[in-house]
Amino acid sequence: MIGLDNKRIIVTGGAPGIGLGIVTAIIEAGGHVAILDLLPEPHPDCQALITESGKCHYFKKCWEKTNTNLIASGDITKPESLNPAFAKCVNALGGTLDGIVTNAGIGTDKPFLDHSLNDFQRVLTVNQNGTFFPAQLAVRQFMTQPIDPITRSRGSIVMISSQAASNKCPGHFLTAYGGTKGFVKSFCMQLSHELATVGIRSNTISPGYIETDLNLELAKIRPDVNYYFQEAPPMKRLGSPKDIAGGAVYLLSDAATYVTGIDLRIDGGMSA
Ligand code: NAD
Repeated sequence: MIGLDNKRIIVTGGAPGIGLGIVTAIIEAGGHVAILDLLPEPHPDCQALITESGKCHYFKKCWEKTNTNLIASGDITKPESLNPAFAKCVNALGGTLDGIVTNAGIGTDKPFLDHSLNDFQRVLTVNQNGTFFPAQLAVRQFMTQPIDPITRSRGSIVMISSQAASNKCPGHFLTAYGGTKGFVKSFCMQLSHELATVGIRSNTISPGYIETDLNLELAKIRPDVNYYFQEAPPMKRLGSPKDIAGGAVYLLSDAATYVTGIDLRIDGGMSA
């Protein structure tokens, strides 16, 4: 029942980590993906997927010349850069869109008092603008497509928030980051109210500690965090991108056409 046969989905920040786990699962479930990311080259596993599946397109940061400016396409924080890149994604997917996963995000793991204006603005911009504007473009595209007369659904938005939006996170300093992920949760909930009547569903996933390059690198320079990665979750392990991907596939699929406005916590019991 949970499949994505021929569904067309955009994933932001899908080249490594959790995003790549989601991209892989969408393709395994029968869907097609366009990835928007800033990395000049995708992660080797992502490159292999693009080459082997034939169902995955990658739109990296590239500089495009306009009359007066050079514009970076694929940067989700700036509408002037995002809009043409988003149009390329929809075009590569055959001109229709069934879902979007706003996954790209950045962290800042340091004490509140150590944050400069730049630190704070950077995390705000990527995590808030980078969720708001891709979702807005997806809704514009969904509204051009027909609503299913039986399910009254026509598009699914999945936003990646974080356990840091609601839980304490032992071993980390996630005050600023958690605030931005709280925005993602509230924004998504309000959006679900506004759009349910037109058949657009929006839900968040709040991951716990997940085994990604980011966390593995952090553990190299701050070995103390390994203790929290293993011991803080009641299930006594780090989550994997696959754990998150299963939730994303469900929320994008026709098995979830009556599900909107929820926060799916995938965190090994951290929020229990
Ligand atoms: P990651 O750093 O491995 O991947 C994030 C991707 O987003 C990168 O490829 C990066 O290039 C891309 N990106 C960043 N800014 C961008 C921009 N302006 N435009 C386009 N792409 C941009 O991160 P991850 O650990 O896989 O996390 C993915 C999401 O999950 C993030 O939103 C993160 O906050 C959230 N999350 C992660 C964890 C965790 O433990 N790793 C836990 C909870 C939530």
